[in-house]
Amino acid sequence: MSDDCLFCKIIAGDVPSDAVAENEHAYAFRDLTPQAPTHVLVIPRRHEPDIGSLVEADAEAATGVLRLAKQVADEAGGSYRLVFNTGEAAHQSVFHCHAHVLAGRSLGWPPG
Ligand code: AMP
Repeated sequence: MSDDCLFCKIIAGDVPSDAVAENEHAYAFRDLTPQAPTHVLVIPRRHEPDIGSLVEADAEAATGVLRLAKQVADEAGGSYRLVFNTGEAAHQSVFHCHAHVLAGRSLGWPPG
């Protein structure tokens, strides 16, 4: 846990969140500003700043994130997009690894 990390506080229950699902390694909750009918964030319980650090530090936890993202996407039904914004120039604003699961509408390509 990192003291000043918003998503660590969400994992700890110190900041409220709209829970969707969880497993041993990861927690899924609804994004505060949804960009699609289904917009769920999947975060590892372990604090790592991004998916690259997570997979190097704990590949099992990274798999746990992917498994939970798949479960959330399956429950949403149909096509979906899984996004790991990584680094400021790629629009990462919270530096605790997270996957966005986006579904429920047609999604354009390439992304902006
Ligand atoms: P990113 O820009 O990839 O770092 O995504 C961070 C996401 O976290 C954004 O989509 C925000 O809307 C979302 N977010 C920030 N604070 C909260 C919160 N307290 N609860 C749920 N989602 C949040």
